[in-house]
Amino acid sequence: MKLVYSIAQMQRISRALRKAGKIIGFVPTMGYLHEGHLSLVRRCRKDCDMIVMSIYVNPLQFGPQEDYRRYPRDLKRDAALAGKEKVDYLFVPRDADMYPGNYNTIVEVKGISDSMCGALRPGHFKGVATVVTKLFNIVLPDVAYFGQKDAQQAAVIKSMVRDLNMAVRINVLPIRREPDGLAMSSRNAYLNASQRRDARILYEALRKARRSIEKGERSARRISEEMKKLICKVNSAIIEYIVIVDARDFKEKKTIEGRVLLALAVWIGKVRLIDNMEV
Ligand code: AMP
Repeated sequence: MKLVYSIAQMQRISRALRKAGKIIGFVPTMGYLHEGHLSLVRRCRKDCDMIVMSIYVNPLQFGPQEDYRRYPRDLKRDAALAGKEKVDYLFVPRDADMYPGNYNTIVEVKGISDSMCGALRPGHFKGVATVVTKLFNIVLPDVAYFGQKDAQQAAVIKSMVRDLNMAVRINVLPIRREPDGLAMSSRNAYLNASQRRDARILYEALRKARRSIEKGERSARRISEEMKKLICKVNSAIIEYIVIVDARDFKEKKTIEGRVLLALAVWIGKVRLIDNMEV
């Protein structure tokens, strides 16, 4: 595996790979790798000739009060994990090269970014769309891999790729979970032992909602009330949002019909966790 820090060098490598007829698969991440990230790499290896993974904690997608500074970082550990998974190139750009002093351009995806995390983290999806555009222009992937864990992010990227005619196929893969159901996330590392136990309530609430829907409940309000009640039983939990949206356009639903996404963001102590389930 080759570590690449320079944008120009990454672009040179990608151009050469393309010229040689290689299919480039790309897994963008913010690092502190876990099985969720590695599942994307494994799928990428099956589909593509070359795997490029990026590790970049993108300052543009964090709000001023958010955890940009304390976001977990461990390049040595990440490089070892990526190497073991046979990543070909680990691209780790520097802030000063990604956003130099004269940086001016922002990519905004309307509509799908307006609800859920988009509403509660102003500017977050502009940051995501901008950095992913930059990374696509540098890595020149044929296929890029994202996780359903960040369902709204995946939808934003798909919409951007379609609207801007980017020549990249977007592959969205299922959520990887811990044995007790908690969705894997780099932020789980912030949880202490009791918070870690409390965090199980997110997946429990989603499963309870799915069971209600399967039993015939069709009122989105009643289902989210039921989820709220369950989560509020946990002392350390503060609900940011619980919504039921159309799985395609992320518009809120009053009545359950067709494919819906149950999505939630919950604070466990000072840790913001998100999870979702398509039903
Ligand atoms: P992050 O490093 O958190 O920005 O995540 C990088 C990519 O990994 C994103 O496409 C995420 O959706 C995906 N990802 C994160 N957690 C999981 C998970 N538990 N299961 C599957 N994919 C995940």
